[in-house]
Amino acid sequence: MPTARRPSRFRLPADVRPSGYDLHLEPDLDAGTFRGSVRIQVRLERPRREIVLHAADLAVERATVRVGTEDVAARTHVSRADETLTLRLARRVPAGEATLELRWSAKLNQHLRGFYAVTADGRRYAFTQCEAADARRILPCFDEPSFKARFRVAVTARQGDAVVSNAAVEREEPVAGGRIVRFAETPPLSTYLLAVAVGPLESSAPRLLGPTQIRVWHVPGKGHLTAIGLEAAAESLRRLEEYFGIPYPYGKLDLVAVPDFEAGAMENAGAVFFRETLLLLDPATAAIAEHKRAAEVIAHELAHMWYGDLVTMAWWDDLWLNEAFATWMAYRVVDDWRPEWRMWHGFEHDRSGALAQDALRSTHPIYAPVRSVAEATENFDAITYEKGAAVVRMIEHYLGAEHFRDGVRIYMRRHREGNAVAADLWRALEEASGREVARVAQAWIAQAGFPLVTVEPASDGRGLRVRQERFFADPRVPAARRRGRWPVPLVVKWADGGGPGTGRFLVDRASQVVTLPATDRPAWYYGNADAGGFYRTRHDDDTVAALVGRLEHTLTPVERQAFASDQWALVRSARAPIARFLDVADALGDESDHDVLDGLSGPLGLVDEQVVPVGSPVQASFRSWLAGRFLPQLARLGWDAAPGEHELTRLRRAALVRLVGGIAEEPGVLAEARRRVDAYLADRRALEPNLTDPVVGLAARVGDDALYERYRAAVGTAETPQERRRFLLNLASFRTAGTLRRTLDAALTPEIPTQDVAFILMRLLGNPFARLDAWRFIQKRWSALRKRVPPLMLSRLVDAMPALREPRQAREVAAFFRRHPLPEAERALRQSLEVFRLNAELRRRTAPGVAEWLERRT
Ligand SMILES: [Zn+2]
Repeated sequence: MPTARRPSRFRLPADVRPSGYDLHLEPDLDAGTFRGSVRIQVRLERPRREIVLHAADLAVERATVRVGTEDVAARTHVSRADETLTLRLARRVPAGEATLELRWSAKLNQHLRGFYAVTADGRRYAFTQCEAADARRILPCFDEPSFKARFRVAVTARQGDAVVSNAAVEREEPVAGGRIVRFAETPPLSTYLLAVAVGPLESSAPRLLGPTQIRVWHVPGKGHLTAIGLEAAAESLRRLEEYFGIPYPYGKLDLVAVPDFEAGAMENAGAVFFRETLLLLDPATAAIAEHKRAAEVIAHELAHMWYGDLVTMAWWDDLWLNEAFATWMAYRVVDDWRPEWRMWHGFEHDRSGALAQDALRSTHPIYAPVRSVAEATENFDAITYEKGAAVVRMIEHYLGAEHFRDGVRIYMRRHREGNAVAADLWRALEEASGREVARVAQAWIAQAGFPLVTVEPASDGRGLRVRQERFFADPRVPAARRRGRWPVPLVVKWADGGGPGTGRFLVDRASQVVTLPATDRPAWYYGNADAGGFYRTRHDDDTVAALVGRLEHTLTPVERQAFASDQWALVRSARAPIARFLDVADALGDESDHDVLDGLSGPLGLVDEQVVPVGSPVQASFRSWLAGRFLPQLARLGWDAAPGEHELTRLRRAALVRLVGGIAEEPGVLAEARRRVDAYLADRRALEPNLTDPVVGLAARVGDDALYERYRAAVGTAETPQERRRFLLNLASFRTAGTLRRTLDAALTPEIPTQDVAFILMRLLGNPFARLDAWRFIQKRWSALRKRVPPLMLSRLVDAMPALREPRQAREVAAFFRRHPLPEAERALRQSLEVFRLNAELRRRTAPGVAEWLERRT
């Protein structure tokens, strides 16, 4: 059996440091190649015969080292495994300043990494994407975040092609067939933030925020979709400048909509790149969720301009410093801008997802040592982003918003244009608040997992006994492994004869009593007020019964979301019977809050897909209970929005359609979706924008080959990126044999952009009629997939494997990836196999309980 290629753990020596790059790129978009040359100013701390830097997939043609006025010849040696270029010098050069001069040629690749080619609507473009470690595919460089240097970029382009880079254009010089665009020098940047876009891009008129010119760039014909992005950028930037107390550091701000892009967006300093769906929106047809998501991503990337770009983590092990903070900041900024969007309710879905991943044995601490590029790539996950953001939020609540902001300002000022580690942030927060931060924060950052906090009435009748232990989804984890301890900033709310109250406590023992200032025994209490803490809460049975009986009166919507999610987690870990969760879901039948309803979709969908036998009478009875409970509310609302109807009502309707149509597959709802998709296909304004996603998805489930062809045609003629994505991804929601074959046949052709291949396959894995064929396809076409799709996206595909459900498929998945190792997805694979096992255990344990509960109700 072939063994996994060990990812290289090579790190550059610290005693050769670059201070500036003079880079010239000459892309030939028609030939799909580029030439490059660079002069790199470096400082040698000691005399050297050899200088090592990073390079990958570059044919280096010339290398010299200039010391003073003298050129020293260099032979080059390339290591493919380490992705390095070693310059072996003709003689030893002394310590001090030197200039490396290099010239190379390379291909514009097709894989969304480094400098890559994209064809859209028959036009050719080239874009860069460098994070984590692909700048080395563009130029030989010191490709680690702590080697910050100034960049002076020049790009040769054809007449008619626009060029965007990190800095503003300084001047243009005509050359045969085109021109050289020379950009101003940047402030010191890490290589992963370098950006170049070339091609027939167009830009919006600039929008000014103070002295900063903001523009949105896009492929031709999409200029009418830029207003929302511009507004979100300006609103975010204003708030971020205010928060950090430092003006925007990169002069101008370009936002570029890239037609084929790996991540959601990338925070290149001064030139942020996005997927089109996250930047180009039509105000008339965009769903609220799409609008919110775009605003959140724009705010996230702009938060990075300070947090990440201006102050950068010293190494990838502190990636969370960048990502957790930007994630948290984005919610904060957009919440301030558009409070009616209730961003923190949306965050609850993310918190809940991160808790689920962090409850696995195979989770990892937020701070994870990183020895290789593959390990750095693995860390772009829910633990780094969403758990990290939840922990940042918890620390902000604990210190108070002003102290926290003051600490962040100290940290920013102290490390601007440099690098920092977590301890630097803790120190700044301690200085600002006068409170202990490092110990509290470090426990959450360095330990994997999170606590289950059990809150029960203490024996004195007035206080509460609080116990903590590490929470695992797997009920078979032995007690000895559960002995985790965290300083938990606990926020309890309660009601007694004197009315409601809230108390804050720092709980750091395994078991302790907290005293409520209540006058008598509380009628009820709840152990995670505002769902602000990153932990699960368990209450005694009487309290659960008291809460479930009056959910809308005791808990706020975001607390109801968290409460239901906790009840599900307790079922999952065998601490509560399945009836407990079903009772909660049943009690929420008249729930008016769309986020609470959407929060039920995950667990109820899992019961339907993983617990009850497919096609069994139990499944039918489960679905009919679900429809019976939530359909009356949908019927009252109707499918058509009343004129002037509140946003929240529109979102509630969509959530109900997802529950009753998406999970219960209620025939009337499916038929209505099928009918309404015809109207939508004829006129894109015929459907309430928030219903477009569920309707297009549900209609596909009952659609025939003719409807499939209409979706395919709609992909080509879509008026917005969101609409295109909707029809494209839902090609994978059809169920007929012919349509499934056609989708798989198209999956690896240019019909599907590289950015969408993994998403199409994930949808197919989630489609009960397609999942086995999709799995066979993935195995058969693995080498083509591996070649085309970037590793981070393949690891998402590995995450989706448990949809295959059966233990036999779990064994196949394990065996397949043993034979075809994917270093960037090693952890994803362990997690995926664990979820397979957990689902099987859940099925064995709770399927009888579901049947009994349903029977009791009929
Ligand atoms: Zn980010």
